[in-house]
Amino acid sequence: MLPSLAKIPIRKTVAATLTTFPSLLQTPLTSHVISRRNLSHASNGAVSDKVDYEVDHLVIGAGVVGLAIAERLASRGSGSVLLVEKNEAAGQETSSRNSEVIHAGLYYPPDSLKTKLCIRGNELMYDLCEKYGIEHKRTTKWVVAQTENDLEYLEGLSKKAHKLLLPTARMPGPPTSMLTQKQMLAEEPLVKGIAALLSERTGIVDVHGLMQFLEMRIQDQGGDVALQCEVTGIHRERPQAVGEDMKESLGGGGGFRVDMMTPAGPATVKAATVINSAGLYADKIYGLLPTSSPSGKVPSSEKVDVLDQEPLPPHRLYYCKGHYYGYSGPALVSRLIYPVPDKNLAGLGTHLTLDLAGRMRFGPDVLYTDRPDDYSIDMDTVGSPSSLEKVSKVIQTYLPSINPSSIYVDYAGIRPKLAGPGEPFRDFMIRHHQGFVHLAGIESPGLTSSLAIAEYVEDLLFKRDTYV
Ligand SMILES: Cc1cc2nc3c(=O)[nH]c(=O)nc-3n(C[C@H](O)[C@H](O)[C@H](O)COP(=O)(O)OP(=O)(O)OC[C@H]3O[C@@H](n4cnc5c(N)ncnc54)[C@H](O)[C@@H]3O)c2cc1C
Repeated sequence: MLPSLAKIPIRKTVAATLTTFPSLLQTPLTSHVISRRNLSHASNGAVSDKVDYEVDHLVIGAGVVGLAIAERLASRGSGSVLLVEKNEAAGQETSSRNSEVIHAGLYYPPDSLKTKLCIRGNELMYDLCEKYGIEHKRTTKWVVAQTENDLEYLEGLSKKAHKLLLPTARMPGPPTSMLTQKQMLAEEPLVKGIAALLSERTGIVDVHGLMQFLEMRIQDQGGDVALQCEVTGIHRERPQAVGEDMKESLGGGGGFRVDMMTPAGPATVKAATVINSAGLYADKIYGLLPTSSPSGKVPSSEKVDVLDQEPLPPHRLYYCKGHYYGYSGPALVSRLIYPVPDKNLAGLGTHLTLDLAGRMRFGPDVLYTDRPDDYSIDMDTVGSPSSLEKVSKVIQTYLPSINPSSIYVDYAGIRPKLAGPGEPFRDFMIRHHQGFVHLAGIESPGLTSSLAIAEYVEDLLFKRDTYV
């Protein structure tokens, strides 16, 4: 467990600059300084030695993953937690532009974080939703084979699924079974295929309800969520600035000073640990860390790359857009229907999901793009009649009775991918070094895995070993 921050001396200049939160002036160092309001203070300047707030854990990015991590850390009740988000509300990016599917964790390599965290996350998600009444549905899912090759793939997938274990309890993982064509017709007469793999633990969740719940819980447990606070700089504190016990907990690190832009101007937060959960911008945040000298020697100043001693493999994020297609007509099935996925798992094929109101939607497709913020839909290409016709044909391979004229292009989400176009599978990247936790490539199944990712990050920070 991290020791209290009390050993880091508070800077007295804080009191002079905090004009909008007078009550903060009376709070002890590790108390929760910003309550469901925008971080805002009078300040006249760029980066300086001045520190406006101090916290134990600073989480960057209030998507579903950052919210889950902040909630988990706040629930420990042993250190202050501040979650900062650049937008006006939590969850406005990838976390609200997805299929809302609670995946079972079938597809990825058995030892990957994607498999382990998805299987564990699936369990945690159903437990949380059931306990607190967050809207969700255990729909189940079929992956449908059209060819003998598909069938071979599904049989392999089913065998693999039977060997997967729930990582925390070493219990059997996701239950699956193979369905014959006859069994398929009895349950879903409109679905075409020669066989299907049934995934029993696949379902859907109201992601907005989930995020609202997590945001509320962070605050109920004494944590803080600061909106419209964009992180612009990260500086490493000298290790000697903290006591021996803190040094050990932070692996020789001394915490961080993090600069951010707030509606009222720049602010600086001092944090013992920083968790980078910035989604599509995680590589930009990582790039803010000071780097070591070109010679590879650690420079004598305090600007030491926190990852110097354990460098991350070179990585950048690719932006991979996925468009969804709506259907203006009644649902023709009662569960999620997927084709056999792409070989490199860049996407799971143009599949059919249901929302909680029972409406069908199709997609997402896979289209690499240059920008992390371009959600526009090009009606000349993606939304053109010929494109809609192409999509209809793909869907008709497993659902021949859809009416092509009822299909329309709806919205898009962007996957933060570590794999570029045509590159092989890449796992989630979640690394901890000296108090900095870096999360990159948290694409699907990131929503399903969110609660398990939070548990995993807690493990990394507090040296527990749930995921052995
Ligand atoms: C098309 C699509 C379909 C998907 N379908 C599913 C699915 O069905 N099931 C599933 O399990 N997963 C799915 N996913 C994956 C899932 O949506 C993501 O893994 C998950 O939402 C990632 O959450 P996050 O919190 O990491 O990222 P985000 O939701 O992107 O949150 C990151 C936050 O960081 C903030 N931020 C960035 N930079 C800064 C800064 N400098 N300062 C402060 N804040 C900053 C951003 O504003 C943002 O709010 C899908 C993804 C896509 C794109």
